Amino acid sequence: MKSVNTVTGSVSADKLGTTLMHEHLLIGWAGWELDCNAPRFDRKTALKTAVERLKELKDLGLGTFVDPCPNDIGRDIVFMADVAAASGVNVIGATGLYKEDLGNTAYFRQRSIEEIADVYVTEITKGVGETGIKAGIIKCATGKDHISEYENRCLRAAARASKRTGVPITTHTEEGTMGREQLDIFAEEGVDLAHVVIGHSCGASDLRYHTDMLDRGCLLGFDRFGLDFVHPDRLRLAALIGLVGVGFEKQLVLSHDSVACWKGKGLPEMDAKTLEGIKNWNPTHIFKHILPALKEAGIGDHKIKAMMVENPRRFFETA
Ligand SMILES: [Zn+2]
Repeated sequence: MKSVNTVTGSVSADKLGTTLMHEHLLIGWAGWELDCNAPRFDRKTALKTAVERLKELKDLGLGTFVDPCPNDIGRDIVFMADVAAASGVNVIGATGLYKEDLGNTAYFRQRSIEEIADVYVTEITKGVGETGIKAGIIKCATGKDHISEYENRCLRAAARASKRTGVPITTHTEEGTMGREQLDIFAEEGVDLAHVVIGHSCGASDLRYHTDMLDRGCLLGFDRFGLDFVHPDRLRLAALIGLVGVGFEKQLVLSHDSVACWKGKGLPEMDAKTLEGIKNWNPTHIFKHILPALKEAGIGDHKIKAMMVENPRRFFETA
């Protein structure tokens, strides 16, 4: 059976249903607990917020919520399991490390590729800490226009852990850069690129960048819908409609990279205009606005189903 680790147990890949491939329940940047002026983290309130959000998504037809929060920016796998159990939505949690400039890297900068890979494999096969809750996806990340030596090591560790476990990889790219170089590293390590999502690829409007990667068999994450101040939705949508129009719907997955709850203050302070630009940044946006826009552009239901249901299923099906 092709089964997937969710935070509430193993689920057959064909039972995942409609899937959002990149969202977050809870994020806490390293050091948040040192801010004495930040709001105190109230777990009960946060749980209520997150459960309400998933119940709303369930009513819109969501079956599975993938939360690829890396280990070093506040990942709380028990919180994820509590939210999954209370909402009835599958939640898939990750093992992995974030990009160097925003991660909590002091310890892992001093570890080898094999040591890092071993951590990922343990979290996939035995579980996170003492919880017994297993990671179902591997996360890695790079910064803008550059892959640091540390990030390179984390990418190779992700590749090796993926090969050892059959668990797929999802990445963070910054402003639509370095996706091709990420694929080069995975290919060098012998990863089947059909089990890789190059995340945040919608942050680029360069269709050659997109097709270069798609031609190599990976999936691309159009997974920041609603984050208009980073890259406007209409540009994300224009690229998506174009790529689906020329037949790439079997390699695209959709999401928002939304965050339900923060530990500490979360995003930096924003002016009114920037805030206006993220008014749609919540995980119902695709269901309410993006899918209707795709239909308006003439994209049929079977192509939408490919992106929302079939591609996630195939991605998680292990060899
Ligand atoms: Zn994310």
